[in-house]
Amino acid sequence: MIQQVKERGTILVYIEEGADFLASHGVPDARLSAEELLASVCSSSRLALYQVLDQKLPSALNTKYHDLLKRRSERYPLQYLLARQPFRFVSLEIGTGCLIPRPETEGLVDIVLEALPKNRPLYILDIGTGSGNISISLACERPQWSLVATDISERALAYANRNILTNGVSSRVKLVQADLFEITREPQFDALVSNPPYLTNAELESAQAELYYEPREALFGGSDGLAFYRRIISLAPQILKPAGQIFFEIGFGQAECVTEILTRAGFENTQVKKDNSEIERYVSAFWKM
Ligand code: GLN
Repeated sequence: MIQQVKERGTILVYIEEGADFLASHGVPDARLSAEELLASVCSSSRLALYQVLDQKLPSALNTKYHDLLKRRSERYPLQYLLARQPFRFVSLEIGTGCLIPRPETEGLVDIVLEALPKNRPLYILDIGTGSGNISISLACERPQWSLVATDISERALAYANRNILTNGVSSRVKLVQADLFEITREPQFDALVSNPPYLTNAELESAQAELYYEPREALFGGSDGLAFYRRIISLAPQILKPAGQIFFEIGFGQAECVTEILTRAGFENTQVKKDNSEIERYVSAFWKM
């Protein structure tokens, strides 16, 4: 069999060597990481790299690529190295100190969009906004809605603030630094949405290595993972207008408990929905009339 000799220093060879290096360190989806990192070094996209596989990588970019591979081999999250993460129709700046938006959370936004009236001005509270992903998407996709987005973390809020500005929704998304939410006035919100920290200790310990680099305060939900649902639900009567709705993302196996906490607190019409992996991932309910 005639084998084509690969020329040293080409984009293809850099991708293959990078992927082998990452795989040897146990990095999942090693080739994807190598391609994404090389694309970012070249200020290009993975797809565009495929058009130039036989071209030489400018040697000035070599060191930068190797630095990124080294960091990725330590299981530092790919998304932090790329410093951006797509979420629905927007692109968000992210980095250490800010939870990486997950695809499941795109589904939470879908549920809110479907459940609430589209063409009415609504006022919505997003507790624990992180990068601002949920609030920014809701504001971008529903021009009549306004949001208050809270987070306890100053570092997360700095990312959220930049993302709100770059996505042009600063007139309708107000950021507040708070542990959950400071109650100041009458219940005023039409809806409350949250993807709170919900992992248990055991889940954190058994999670893939990358999770270690994400903020624990955005992941850990107390010994049973439910601490934030209890706290948010007990605040909700002071937040939600009559018949206001609450929407949560939840962790694996938490649907029954979160439903019970809601029902005991006086919420009605509780609904559980599954994510794309058929896992019960979202709970919604109505506050009393
Ligand atoms: N979905 C995240 C994970 O499983 C957890 C985010 C959260 O706790 N809200 O890694």
